[in-house]
Amino acid sequence: MSRRGTLGGSLALSDPAAEYPACALALEATIVLAGRGGERRVAARDFFRGLFETDIRAGELLVAAEFPRAERSLFVELARRQGDYAIVGLAAVAGASGRRFAFCGVASTPVLAAGASRAATLDAALQALRQDLNPSADLYHCAATKLHLAGVLLSRAWNTLAKPH
Ligand SMILES: Cc1cc2nc3c(=O)[nH]c(=O)nc-3n(C[C@H](O)[C@H](O)[C@H](O)COP(=O)(O)OP(=O)(O)OC[C@H]3O[C@@H](n4cnc5c(N)ncnc54)[C@H](O)[C@@H]3O)c2cc1C
Repeated sequence: MSRRGTLGGSLALSDPAAEYPACALALEATIVLAGRGGERRVAARDFFRGLFETDIRAGELLVAAEFPRAERSLFVELARRQGDYAIVGLAAVAGASGRRFAFCGVASTPVLAAGASRAATLDAALQALRQDLNPSADLYHCAATKLHLAGVLLSRAWNTLAKPH
């Protein structure tokens, strides 16, 4: 009996609280799907379609996921206890092509915070985040709490990525 989940399994499951889908979005990964009709490649931004729903069609398998190399990246999350699913998580990438911030735990799919990703300052990014995210409440946290926590994570990630190597 295997006790290890796979990267492909996590991407294919598309749990909105899972970390790998947010990483795939932030890193602009390409998902490779194969079926009897051949292989097709789907950008991560088009792959996650809804709650536990992806672009995988009947008869297809996810056979690879290609992650472009990132200059700087990090993942931060907030959970009640170590090992719990995150209340909110953030995959952050920074490099010559700019910054990208993708959140998990805030909607039915991972969400790329487009406005915050384009912002030039942390203050502007935090402002933009209010437009980027419209978090759904979960059993324990209301939407306002999730939005607040997303801002906390964004600040941490922004400041960490800004530090000299
Ligand atoms: C104790 C425990 C702790 C966990 N903690 C976390 C956590 O901290 N963070 C997190 O993100 N997730 C967590 N998970 C969830 C786990 O990552 C997912 O269940 C993931 O799907 C496991 O991968 P797997 O390879 O076992 O996939 P499976 O569970 O075997 O498959 C998941 C789904 O995807 C389909 N599938 C699997 N592989 C493919 C493929 N290659 N192509 C097409 N469809 C496929 C399966 O048919 C199934 O519908 C946890 C799970 C458990 C049991």
